Amino acid sequence: MQLVFASNNKNKILEIQSILPESIKILSLEDIGCLEEIPETADTIEGNAILKANYVTHKYGYDCFADDTGLEVAVLNGEPGVYSARYAGEQRNAEDNMDKLLNALSDKNNRNAQFKTVIALNIKGKQELFTGIAKGEITLEKIGNKGFGYDPIFQPIGYNETFAELSLEIKNEISHRGIATQQLINFLRKRS
Ligand code: IMP
Repeated sequence: MQLVFASNNKNKILEIQSILPESIKILSLEDIGCLEEIPETADTIEGNAILKANYVTHKYGYDCFADDTGLEVAVLNGEPGVYSARYAGEQRNAEDNMDKLLNALSDKNNRNAQFKTVIALNIKGKQELFTGIAKGEITLEKIGNKGFGYDPIFQPIGYNETFAELSLEIKNEISHRGIATQQLINFLRKRS
């Protein structure tokens, strides 16, 4: 079975391919000749994952899965959410995004937040959604230098370190993306 992952991130693709049975071959967007930017214009995380997966299936005719992620902060009514990448502007700068969020929370006691990843899978004419959530708190300052995005200011529940201090192995086990990906893999394994 061939399945497109609507991504050009080679690491993500290799990682998923290595976990799946050999009978499932993962193709990248480049592999299928999709070189244009896929619109991400929905106003929810689910909506964007669905948009991306549907774009590939409808335009290129492949079974496909796509993911979308956002950081939801309780006291900000779920912001930055679907706009996490460009919270501080179109330049999508992680430092600026973190500074803006730390500022927005400077006078708040409730610092609860969660990362949410949704994976939309189109397979044989049906659509499945898988959701992974990592709950935690926004720290008072940036700590750690691993990872990317908001990792230095997100401390998952049950840990004294931020995502940017934890090893990739541990982050993958407990993260939003890790959890959603594991659900996808379990689903595909059962079917293969
Ligand atoms: P994407 O949908 O995976 O591109 O994620 C959207 C945005 O959410 C990214 O640009 C990051 O700012 C943020 N983000 C997603 N996943 C993570 C993560 O694991 N750690 C920190 N930030 C993340």
